[in-house]
Amino acid sequence: MRVLVLGAGYAGLTLARDLERRLPADADLTVVNDSPHHLVQHEVHRAIRRPAVADAIQVPLDEALDRAEVVVDRVTGVDRDARTVELAAGDALGYDYCAVCLGAQTAYYGIPGLEAHSVPLKRVADAETIRTRFFDDCDEGGTVVVGGAGLSGVQVAGELAALRDEEGAHADIVLVERLDAVAPSFDASFRRAVRDELLDRGVEIRTETTVESVTDATVEADTGDIDYDLLVWTGGIAGDDAMGGERPAVRADLRLDRRTFVVGDAARHLRRIGRMEWTNACRRVV
Ligand SMILES: Cc1cc2nc3c(=O)[nH]c(=O)nc-3n(C[C@H](O)[C@H](O)[C@H](O)COP(=O)(O)OP(=O)(O)OC[C@H]3O[C@@H](n4cnc5c(N)ncnc54)[C@H](O)[C@@H]3O)c2cc1C
Repeated sequence: MRVLVLGAGYAGLTLARDLERRLPADADLTVVNDSPHHLVQHEVHRAIRRPAVADAIQVPLDEALDRAEVVVDRVTGVDRDARTVELAAGDALGYDYCAVCLGAQTAYYGIPGLEAHSVPLKRVADAETIRTRFFDDCDEGGTVVVGGAGLSGVQVAGELAALRDEEGAHADIVLVERLDAVAPSFDASFRRAVRDELLDRGVEIRTETTVESVTDATVEADTGDIDYDLLVWTGGIAGDDAMGGERPAVRADLRLDRRTFVVGDAARHLRRIGRMEWTNACRRVV
């Protein structure tokens, strides 16, 4: 039996480590990831203010895994009928069971100029770009606009405000959100606490503001233009190219079909799953 885990982020690495323990000894377990490291992605915003964090949040996969074979390559497609996975460089891999854990990429929603003029935050290199551009373009009175006030956006705005204060810089930091609150998918007390903390740190918050287009110097929103020197976009996620940009919807069993599963950000989960359901989903792969 050959089991493939595609992606070694939070979902893929957790699953692969579970499967290392649970699969029978004669089963082949292969993890495909486009980097030889696991990135602790939910800490990547910290590398903006503390570049040394980058080392701590990139864990070599051969240290994190035991019996799994690691293939470092980019997945370009999954053919569920043929039960094969296409790779950018290597030969296609066949599978008996496959878990797609490829995470998500930044969504730009077709907003004119947005992708060309903004910096996303998914990788360590993005954090490095944001830090460099902050010091080059903003610290003597420039404006950073952070688009999207989900967890990534509020954490980026908070890190930039702390960096500004530590360095005695003079940048304005503006957090823009289409909905009527920061951290809009969380409960009211959390939303209030995040908002108050950001305001205390001198972040300007503009909710109910929809970005309509972006030029090289201006965010054009439905509530008016905002001139910027650096635009960080954390306004949403879309599926990986290997999944045609889609995040397929799955139920608690995480199945796309009998032999193919989707786990983590790669999927839209119809509801949150608990530890027991996760364990059961792993058992189904086994
Ligand atoms: C700045 C920031 C702050 C965040 N803060 C929080 C937080 O506080 N709390 C929280 O719950 N969540 C937070 N998140 C979200 C959290 O990081 C994600 O939900 C989580 O990383 C999803 O895990 P995943 O394994 O599904 O995807 P990922 O962690 O994105 O892992 C996907 C893996 O697949 C690899 N990969 C992608 N495409 C390919 C391909 N085609 N071929 C091969 N390999 C590929 C990637 O390199 C990566 O290793 C934050 C995210 C960001 C960016």
